[in-house]
Amino acid sequence: MAKRDFYETLGVAKNASEDEIKKSYRKLAMKYHPDRNPDSKESEEKFKEVKEAYEMLTNPEKREAYDRYGHAGVDPNMGGGGGFGGGAGGFGDAFGDIFGDIFGGGGRGRGAGPQVYRGADLRYNLEITLEQAAHGFDTTIRVPSWDKCDTCHGSGAKPGTSPVTCTTCAGHGQVRMQQGFFSIQQTCPKCHGTGKIIPEPCAACAGQGRIKRNKTLEVKIPVGIDNGMRIRSSGNGEPGTNGGPSGDLYVEIHIKPHTVFQREGDDLHCEMPISFAKAALGGEIEVPTLSGKVSFTIPEGTQSGKTFRLKGKGIKGVRSGFAGDLFCHVAVETPVKLTEKQKDMLRDFEKLTTEGGAKHSPQSKTWRDKVKDFFE
Ligand SMILES: [Zn+2]
Ligand SMILES: [Zn+2]
Repeated sequence: MAKRDFYETLGVAKNASEDEIKKSYRKLAMKYHPDRNPDSKESEEKFKEVKEAYEMLTNPEKREAYDRYGHAGVDPNMGGGGGFGGGAGGFGDAFGDIFGDIFGGGGRGRGAGPQVYRGADLRYNLEITLEQAAHGFDTTIRVPSWDKCDTCHGSGAKPGTSPVTCTTCAGHGQVRMQQGFFSIQQTCPKCHGTGKIIPEPCAACAGQGRIKRNKTLEVKIPVGIDNGMRIRSSGNGEPGTNGGPSGDLYVEIHIKPHTVFQREGDDLHCEMPISFAKAALGGEIEVPTLSGKVSFTIPEGTQSGKTFRLKGKGIKGVRSGFAGDLFCHVAVETPVKLTEKQKDMLRDFEKLTTEGGAKHSPQSKTWRDKVKDFFE
């Protein structure tokens, strides 16, 4: 049986490019692959035929020999001519090629153009006050942005010169590495996937094709935002490469420490010093909140360390929408810098309370009992 013409086998023209040959081969190899056509002798023969034609026509030396001498130029069984070994190998090679393309080279169409990259995400640290976090506010920030370079009009090449096709990857932006049965696609190390080399970079943009500037961005800080939360501004990150999409900008919130309040989730805590007379007598006290002062009454005999909870006086949760509480921790203050008269009054007071017995000092009584138990 006369051997079929390699070009005919692959269904391509005599002047077909390597890409066209590969494309056609992949289609046919998939169609006739033995895994897809079990027990079909005809398919197996076709598969071998297609594979051989592919191997011949993608090897420039063999293709040249074939074009000049026909099958005699490449077939070892025909004597004469080139005598390049035919591809009698298993299915591994064909598999490698097919899978290499299926798994490799993410993010671009098969066999087409240079690699497209999404731009990097950017982070902007925004410091705000606790009041701003509690009430929400609108602000503007200055962030980097990029404009097309006026000098080179975005090409990155010095005016009068132009980028050239990368020779390492022939402009594909990808190179193929053979590893065992598999051929693996990798981003071209020379042009980093752009498919182009700039021999003389534009001085204005250092070959980047774009110039960094700043722009003003409006940011809406929602009510109740907490430390470490991020607000995303879509598409305001670094621009992509080769027409890839821009990254995003993340505004990360940092809340400055507050002089009065500590935040815990949506709750607030504050320490509140009161005089020991006020603590003993009870009465109305004024407490600060993030939305003004409020007053409430503490009972007679309030001890140091007692916590009062003011419901709903915390921060409205950014997700829940419910307000947290304010916890006031009472600290009874010992009076200092007393006058002689004040000291005399305190001595009298001390004498009277001691005569009155343990009932005036509940904590001391408990403590003394513990100590007593301990020594006995
Ligand atoms: Zn430029
Ligand atoms: Zn390259």
